[in-house]
Amino acid sequence: MRKLRLLTASKASLGLTGCTHWLNLDAWWDEGGSAKSRIGQDAHTEIELLIEGMQDAKEPIIAGVGPNLYTAIESPSRGGEPDSGSWSSAAKSFLRDYGFLGASIDTEVSFAYGRDDSGAGGVCIGRNRDYSLIAPEDTIAGTVDVQIRESGLLTLLDWKTGDGTRALPQLLTLGGLASGGYEASDLARLLSVEVRKGPGEKPYRVAIDQTTTIGKCREYLQSLHNRIQEAAVNGTRKVKGPHCYQLFCPHMRVCHGVDE
Ligand code: SF4
Repeated sequence: MRKLRLLTASKASLGLTGCTHWLNLDAWWDEGGSAKSRIGQDAHTEIELLIEGMQDAKEPIIAGVGPNLYTAIESPSRGGEPDSGSWSSAAKSFLRDYGFLGASIDTEVSFAYGRDDSGAGGVCIGRNRDYSLIAPEDTIAGTVDVQIRESGLLTLLDWKTGDGTRALPQLLTLGGLASGGYEASDLARLLSVEVRKGPGEKPYRVAIDQTTTIGKCREYLQSLHNRIQEAAVNGTRKVKGPHCYQLFCPHMRVCHGVDE
């Protein structure tokens, strides 16, 4: 069995297209140093600081299974009011409007999947996209921007600075990854929220607000894992098509000869 690159949740839809060539370890990747990706990183950092500032007595998240992470006690009075026209102001508007300001929120929680095949979800590996605890057998990883764990309901949210309407594959994958400790019949609420800043702009738009079962999320995650395992055993395949650019394949510039 050959070792392939780790698939992250943000590339879940590309992982199901049939092309696995880009997952080869020696396939060059555009690592995303574009202005767009830097804006996204800035927004995530700013919003994370806002939410952490709102939370009282938040204990550090440590690696383990999901339920062990559930530690935050939220206090909306802390952290002050963010400047209007900022990413965090947009996020706070959403959290307030949707009734999440009183919730116990974990931010930027990273998970990995593959080290056991029980199908019960991923393993928490820490925070802030630190993937240093990935095991050799892990095939999929992802980071949840906002996680709210309640009895029978897992709420996950991804902030977007661009179009958030295509985020469902990513959210389903994250739902599977973060599903440890839940029953298959429990619910997962998946949200993709576009945040905006600037005068005259509506501060946020909810691109996806979908509730499904934990079981459906796990099935999706498992199908991705199966695809990677199949490629690892039988070899990768190159399948060109509109998905190459529509789904932002990281190998596209080489594969389509842009750099040649
Ligand atoms: S550019 Fe297209 S064909 Fe090439 S590796 Fe990516 S998805 Fe596959």
